[in-house]
Amino acid sequence: TPALELQGLTKRYGNFTALQSMDLTIRAGEIFALLGPNGAGKTTMIGSVCGLVKKSAGTIRVFGKDLDRDSVGPRYEIGLVPQEINFDPFFSVAESLRIQLGYYGRPRDEARIDEVLTALNLHTKKDAMTRALSGGMKRRLLIAKALVHKPRLVFLDEPTAGVDVELRRDLWNYVRKLAAEGTTIVLTTHYLEEAEELADRVGIINEGKLLMVEDKATLLRRF
Ligand code: ADP
Ligand code: ADP
Repeated sequence: TPALELQGLTKRYGNFTALQSMDLTIRAGEIFALLGPNGAGKTTMIGSVCGLVKKSAGTIRVFGKDLDRDSVGPRYEIGLVPQEINFDPFFSVAESLRIQLGYYGRPRDEARIDEVLTALNLHTKKDAMTRALSGGMKRRLLIAKALVHKPRLVFLDEPTAGVDVELRRDLWNYVRKLAAEGTTIVLTTHYLEEAEELADRVGIINEGKLLMVEDKATLLRRF
């Protein structure tokens, strides 16, 4: 079963079409980069799958399950690293991960929390208040939150926009490790370099239309 199947996915805001009849299949275990300029519709696509944007038309299947028919089960398989930092400043790092596990209907697994904090080089900040973290540490926590429940399908929305070189390298390594463990990764970017570096396949989106999907090798031969 594919990790994700979109058929005719369309999103309109009033008269404006942000996403126009998108058809896309993401294979289980691949790293897929959705490449396009600002405003192309990348975040809208992710938001539609993650339940943050109400689609106007189309079908979304996650591991074979139609989200219109079974909205909760498949969503527990999804992790989302959003662009903007969105955690509550009045919790500690560990508390915000416990809350996230609860949000996904998982038990409070302290060993899992330690594991994800260690993997993201965040362990020394376990008891720090989230508001006291540096920008880079906040990014790491965003990623930890998205991964703590071990999702099988992970969306990263412009994960390296505005991050420093060290975090970018850590993040790329971490994405490769997740993929090697069988996690399916969908990332959006407007850097060709990032798509080139990480992805097995690349989709190019502009003005709400998916223009092409290619294996990375094929794409690189074209440019
Ligand atoms: P990307 O992630 O590729 O930068 P987005 O999916 O964020 O693009 O946005 C696609 C288009 O939809 C943009 O033109 C954006 O201005 C528009 N858009 C996004 N959210 C809304 C909204 N809530 N209301 C109206 N237009 C929106
Ligand atoms: P709030 O509105 O207080 O931010 P939400 O319940 O909307 O709380 O979201 C809690 C957390 O879960 C946020 O980090 C959000 O980004 C994330 N989230 C929300 N919906 C989804 C989803 N469908 N899949 C993955 N993560 C989600």
